[in-house]
This record gives sequence, structure tokens and C-alpha cells, in this order.
Amino acid sequence: MNSYAAGKKIYELLCKLYPICRSITGNGTRQTLAEIKAIIPIETHEVPTGTKVFDWAIPKEWNIKDGYVKNSKGEKILDFQKSNLHVLNYSAPVHAKLSLKELQKHLYFLEEYPDWIPYVTSYYKENWGFALPYRQYKTLPDDTYEVFIDSELKDGNLSYGELYVPGAKKDEILLSTYICHPSLANDNLSGIALAAFLAKHLMQEKRTYSYRFLFIPETIGAIAWLCRNENKIKNIRHGLVITCVGDQGKFTYKKSRQGNAEIDKAAEKALADLEKPYEIIDFFPSGSDERQFCSPAFNLQVGSLMKTPYGRFPEYHTSADDLAFVQPQYLEDTFNAYLQTLFIIENNGRYLNLNPKCEPQLGKRGLYHMIGTQKENAPDEFALLWVLNLSDGNYSLLDISVRSGLTFSQIKNAADVLVSAGLLQKIENKPTS
Ligand code: ZN
Repeated sequence: MNSYAAGKKIYELLCKLYPICRSITGNGTRQTLAEIKAIIPIETHEVPTGTKVFDWAIPKEWNIKDGYVKNSKGEKILDFQKSNLHVLNYSAPVHAKLSLKELQKHLYFLEEYPDWIPYVTSYYKENWGFALPYRQYKTLPDDTYEVFIDSELKDGNLSYGELYVPGAKKDEILLSTYICHPSLANDNLSGIALAAFLAKHLMQEKRTYSYRFLFIPETIGAIAWLCRNENKIKNIRHGLVITCVGDQGKFTYKKSRQGNAEIDKAAEKALADLEKPYEIIDFFPSGSDERQFCSPAFNLQVGSLMKTPYGRFPEYHTSADDLAFVQPQYLEDTFNAYLQTLFIIENNGRYLNLNPKCEPQLGKRGLYHMIGTQKENAPDEFALLWVLNLSDGNYSLLDISVRSGLTFSQIKNAADVLVSAGLLQKIENKPTS
């Protein structure tokens, strides 16, 4: 029985982070980074307000202590302490008395989901506002309202976290997630928590690749990181943006801009091998930070492995994306999909059949009709034949697994057995595809 041990740990961290009010800057993101640091040794970075990063500039830092709307009886009808989604994220400070009409200009709601609070932001245009369920909005009486937002917008820093985990080679796999959303579980506390435990897991594994984990505010953080690290980009071979990984929907893999990158094939094969429902979608230039990693000057081989993508579930960017919407077993499924994708990337390679003139006689090497013997990890005979046949230097193990319809693990296992039998040799230093 699966106890979802990994999923439970991820979920626990997610729950711990849930109450914090995060944004693209401020103490909520710092507190979040501190919680991540308790699990993995990330380095934290601070980029000052006004720093130019490509076509953008780091905005003023935003912090908030409180916010409410009171009616004329002094009753709090909207309270930041009850849900940080009630205050427009990045709201400027305000303290005023307003008529209902004036107040309504600053209220946000969703008519189609009348019980949910929408998540709204105004990072780059100074504004203030409150978000509330439409059901409540409709019943607000004519009254004099007191609005109060105890926030600060001033010169400070943008904070992000980074962890570099060295492997046998300099080539890197980039795993990026965003830390700027407040109390929203799937988008994107699920990504943060999964990334932290993925890093922890990989640190204990033997690694061919080096790994770079980024915990950044979406968009501006990715732009700032790319601008500050242009010299590191050449080492990035593959990458994934980790977002929306905890709901019960099917897996979705969004391809890199290149569309036929090794990571694209590896993720698709990993999902096929897991035998759970999945969908592959093409790259499009909106969404998350793949937009920056796949911008034309960089065009990195970065895709995104998700459950239901952002914008495609009704709870997206609302108070209904809560702790009940994500579950340990779904987080565990996605965690395994990430591990399987990385296993494929780590173990992919091209091999050369050392006995290419007809089939080698497998029987005399004890490799034929091994099925039915008691041997553990006995290779599938078809896998042996596929690996021998296609190992002419043109096909990677990933190509062979796709073409044969066998799992990548079966093909890798067969290759290991054939190498041990002296029938196959790894071709080093040839890029795989
Ligand atoms: Zn979002």
C-alpha cells in the first residue's frame, strides 16, 4: 500500500506556507524563503528597487500589516486577517471614509463564482482595493464605509532563493518555481513545496547533471535572474517550470518553445510510462516563467510539467484554490512524474552495438529466455533486441523506448545488461536527443 510519504511531507510544507501573505517583493516572500531554507540550503538574494533588469526595473517593495472595510456601525465587513486575498495585492496605503458608490470602484468580485474571493494584483500601477465574494458584494447596503490598508510601498528589495546542486558534469538542469502568490494552494504553493522536496531528494542521489533550483517571484524574478546570470545560461541543458502540481486533474506537459527538445520527449515518455492520464500541449508565450526562459535570445529547453494548468481550473486565482483542493496523493503522483522525467534525462545516452552483423547469440551468454527464471531485474527480451538493433549511434535510449513502446526503465535495464555482457558500449560526449 502506498502511504504517500513524499506527498504528505510536501503537503505539510504547503500547509505551513499557506497563511503567509506573499507578493513579488516583501517580507512574505522572505518568510517563505526562510521556510524553504529549513529544508534545503538555498542562498537568498536581494535585488534593490530601481535595478534595471533588461526592459524592466525592480519595483518598490510592498509590505502589509492589516486591511479592512468597516460599516458605519464599526463592524469589519472585510478583513485581511481572515483572508489575505481580501486586499488587492500591492495595494497602496489608504485610510478614508467613502460612500458605497465610491467604495464600489475599488471592489473586485467574480459573478460566475459568487462564493469565492478572487485573487487580484496591481504591481505596476499604484492602486488600492478589496476583493470579496459576489454574494456579499450584492448585499452591501448604502452606507458610509471606513477603508483602511496598513501597507507600505517604498524602496527596498526583490528577494529570491537559489540552490545549486553540483553533479558529475557542469551541464545543468534548471528547476524553477515562483513564490509570489499569497494563500493559493495549487498555484503555486504546490510548486514551491514540491520543488523543495525534489531538491532534497536529488541532493541524496548520485547525479550526472548539476541542478539549479530557483524560487523566484513570477515574471520579474525570472527576468531579474536571467539578467544577473547571463554567464550561467550556457550550462543549462534542460529545465522545467514547476507550477500547479497538486490537484486531482490529469497531468499536463507544456513543451519548450523548441518543441522537440530532449526534455519534451523525456517528460512525455515519463508520463506514458506512469500509465496515468496525461495531455501534451504546445508552447505558447503566456503562462509562467517559461515565457522568459524561452524568450528568443535564450530559447532554453525548458518546459513545464503540471497537473491541470493555470487558468484551466475554475478555482484558479480564487479562494477556492485552498488546502482541500490539493491532496498528498496528487502531489506524490507529480513528484514521481518529476523523478521519472529526471531519471530519463540522467540515464539517456547513445550506445553502439559491438556485434552489429546479425544478432549476437544471446543464449550462450545466458541472456535468452531469462523470463521465467527467478532472476531479479531480468531484462525483457524485446528490450534486448530493440537496444541491439537501434544502437547504431543514431538513436538514444529514449528514442528506442519511444519507438519500441517499452518503458524507458526496461530499455535502460536492457542496455545495462548488454554493456555487462560486452555487447554494447556507451558513446560518450555525443549530445542526445
Ligand atoms: Zn498565478
